[in-house]
Amino acid sequence: KLFNEVQELKGNIRVYCRIRPFLPGQKEKQSIVEHIGETDLVVANPSKQGKEGLRTFKFNKVFGPTSTQAGVYADIQAFIRSVLDGYNVCIFAYGQTGSGKTYTMSGPNNATPESVGVNYRALNDLFSISTIPDATMQPVKSTSDVIKLMDIGLKNRAKGSTSMNERSSRSHSVVSIHVRGMDQKSGSTLQGNLHLVDLAGSERVDRSEVVGDRLKEAQHINKSLSALGDVIFSLSQKNAHVPYRNSKLTQLLQSSLGGQAKTLMLVQINSDHKSYSESLSTLKFAERVS
Ligand code: ADP
Ligand code: MG
Repeated sequence: KLFNEVQELKGNIRVYCRIRPFLPGQKEKQSIVEHIGETDLVVANPSKQGKEGLRTFKFNKVFGPTSTQAGVYADIQAFIRSVLDGYNVCIFAYGQTGSGKTYTMSGPNNATPESVGVNYRALNDLFSISTIPDATMQPVKSTSDVIKLMDIGLKNRAKGSTSMNERSSRSHSVVSIHVRGMDQKSGSTLQGNLHLVDLAGSERVDRSEVVGDRLKEAQHINKSLSALGDVIFSLSQKNAHVPYRNSKLTQLLQSSLGGQAKTLMLVQINSDHKSYSESLSTLKFAERVS
């Protein structure tokens, strides 16, 4: 039993990395990132020649630029379904603005059934698998109810235009779903929480470019992202003390981070040479917790 518990804990934090494809109309086509096999990727420092500029990272899974939404979801599905077995599950998308966080979690604007993201697929999955009895308290009844709620959430997100991306998000977007079900075998009640988190952009903000409220906001975002990193890092190290209290985000997610909870970090990167330093710092952040 102890062995199983140890195995269970070891498997609690996963890190997947997804490389955003070049977009139509994007002039640059030269990628500085290459994925090798299912779990490795190599980043080339554009200002260095040859081997000394190369750095390898290893994650639980790497999705290349041609990966599909369905393909990515196929590797997340088991995580989502474990909510029905009473687990708390947290899925984060982390990366600089424009790296594909929202695309992975929600899909593009005007998404088609092929391009919808993790949120939609997860909800569809949970609603189609569970035999939710009418008598249980359910604030939502269908996927479309939740999608409507999420749309409202999206509209309410604080947005501001930065030089990077009009759609850039300066706040974290969290969709939380509480699932209550019955264990078919024992008849006991199972409860699980699912948190789907599209984090604010992780890019470092140039102090010379933003001032006042914008600067405060950027510092606040960076503080909460590093607090999240610290929590996941201390969980991955099995530290006795986990610093949940350092940000509102980690306080909110506390019950779904650590203990028996399952955490999946979806790390998004761009592969053009201008994004090199941001991609590298994203990969280092992810490497620390994986
Ligand atoms: P972020 O949320 O990290 O700021 P977005 O998800 O908004 O980034 O992605 C930036 C742009 O790239 C959007 O136009 C989005 O539709 C596009 N994009 C991101 N990932 C993919 C992908 N895997 N395939 C096609 N287009 C993508
Ligand atoms: Mg976004």
